[in-house]
Amino acid sequence: MNDCLFCKIIAGEIPSSKVYEDEKVFAFRDINPQAPVHVLVVPKQHIDSANDISAENLDSVAACFRAIPAIAAAEGLSDGYRVINNCGKAAGQTVMHLHFHLIGGCELGEKIV
Ligand code: 5GP
Ligand code: ZN
Repeated sequence: MNDCLFCKIIAGEIPSSKVYEDEKVFAFRDINPQAPVHVLVVPKQHIDSANDISAENLDSVAACFRAIPAIAAAEGLSDGYRVINNCGKAAGQTVMHLHFHLIGGCELGEKIV
C-alpha cells in the first residue's frame, strides 16, 4: 500500500504528532482539528474502510477500540468524547485507510445522532 497516506504516517515516512502506539494501533493528532482534542486512531494493518472489516482483520479493529479509552484518558477527556468513522464518499471519507476520529475537549452539543 505504498500510496496510502496513513500507511506512510504509520511507517514514519510522513511526520505526525503521535499520541499512542502499540503492536496493532497508531494514533496521531488530526492536521485539521475540529475540537481541542482530535486524534485519529488507526489500525496499523491497512483496511480501506469500515466496509472492508472482516473476520481476518477484526483483531486490528478491536485493538483500536481497546486503545481508545486509554487515549481518551491520557488526553483528559474524563467528561466524555465522541468516536466517528466516515465510511465512503457520501460520508466524506477522504483517506481510504480505516480510521476513527476521537473528538473531545469541548461541549459536543450539535449531535448528528
Ligand atoms: P476522513 O475525512 O477520511 O474521515 O478523515 C481524514 C482526516 O485526516 C481528516 O480529518 C484530515 O484532516 C486528516 N488528515 C489528512 N491528511 C493528514 C495528514 O497528512 N496528517 C494528519 N495528521 N492528518 C491528516
Ligand atoms: Zn494504509
